[in-house]
Amino acid sequence: MTAQSDDGIGRVIAIALQKGGVGKTTTTINLAAELARLDMRVLVIDIDQQAHSTSGLGITVGPDDPTAFEVLTDERNQRVPLLEAIQKTEFGVDIVPAALALRQLEKGGLGPGGQLRLAKQLDDLTGYDVIFIDCPPALGALTEAAMAAADDVLAVLEAGPDEVDALVRLGSAVADVQEGLNEALEIRYVLLADYEGNTKTAQNVRAGLLQDWGAWSAGGAYLGEIPHTVRVREAKDKRVPIAVHAPTCSAAVAYRDAAVLLAERIRA
Ligand code: ADP
Ligand code: MG
Repeated sequence: MTAQSDDGIGRVIAIALQKGGVGKTTTTINLAAELARLDMRVLVIDIDQQAHSTSGLGITVGPDDPTAFEVLTDERNQRVPLLEAIQKTEFGVDIVPAALALRQLEKGGLGPGGQLRLAKQLDDLTGYDVIFIDCPPALGALTEAAMAAADDVLAVLEAGPDEVDALVRLGSAVADVQEGLNEALEIRYVLLADYEGNTKTAQNVRAGLLQDWGAWSAGGAYLGEIPHTVRVREAKDKRVPIAVHAPTCSAAVAYRDAAVLLAERIRA
């Protein structure tokens, strides 16, 4: 959980929001692919039962493949299940795939010591500069385990009227995790992942985020807005990053720019 990338221990970033359909998974896939193109060594851990990061990076999980479920339920407290579960994608990114079985954990919890199991396994994992954890759309046991393991939270937001409220709720979940599990955790990055700038509300949300989080030189964290475009959905259906499907489209360019900002901050 240390913050150095030059010692081989990567920065762990939980990509979270308690709502579905805001663009967490799209952001995970595309920032991961872009950071890999910037020569960073990237691992994605997919802990959402829907497994859309897994499929979106072209991975089909075989019946005997270990997944994030085995990582989160292994009681040996070693890195064995994590290392066994890592698969290589075609896009220069490694992944711990998700499985439907994760649903049980979201409902039934992780049991004694379970909240720190992922954190312990990631603690001395070397060989990666960045580790993204794609969280499910709830502040339940799985997101909590991700936050316990993470250095930073990247909040993926919608440019709608509930945005401030969503960020406050996420912030209080982070505060809870700070108390018992992970003192150093902060929301350090925010991003608008599916931005349609044609309403006053959306424009106001963007302006507010720029004002509160955008002063990059002062430690700001606003990674920008990704324009809404049908190309994103097409890339998802083809199970490839947007940069592979439509490298010059507005969303591909915006994800590239966001990755450059993030890489700069991670390497600082
Ligand atoms: P989450 O992981 O937060 O549930 P997803 O990343 O799965 O959200 O995105 C929800 C849907 O919105 C997906 O169908 C995705 O393809 C679509 N989407 C996300 N970002 C964009 C965008 N910039 N333009 C168009 N569609 C988008
Ligand atoms: Mg998702």
